Amino acid sequence: MDKHSIYKKCLDRWGIDSQLLMAVEEMTELQTELLHCIRGRGDLKKVSEEIADVMITLEQVLYIYALKSSVNKNIEIKMNRLESILIGEKDKEPTND
Ligand SMILES: [Mg+2]
Repeated sequence: MDKHSIYKKCLDRWGIDSQLLMAVEEMTELQTELLHCIRGRGDLKKVSEEIADVMITLEQVLYIYALKSSVNKNIEIKMNRLESILIGEKDKEPTND
């Protein structure tokens, strides 16, 4: 079964609100694991699992609202902006001249 078929079956079984709540819950679980990392008691196996959960549930959000193309466009815009900032900072770095 392909991913979209699985997402469709999830929506049919549990509904949109349930799947959106699942995405929120998974993001919260990832936040918790990342906070543990910051506090020096992180578990990378758990972080990896929570990232997988977040990615799966966010893909379902993209599927629910048909946002994949729009999100990809926003990623490109934001990555270009980030690159511009980094290039600008490089230009501002003090030289040893
Ligand atoms: Mg989880």
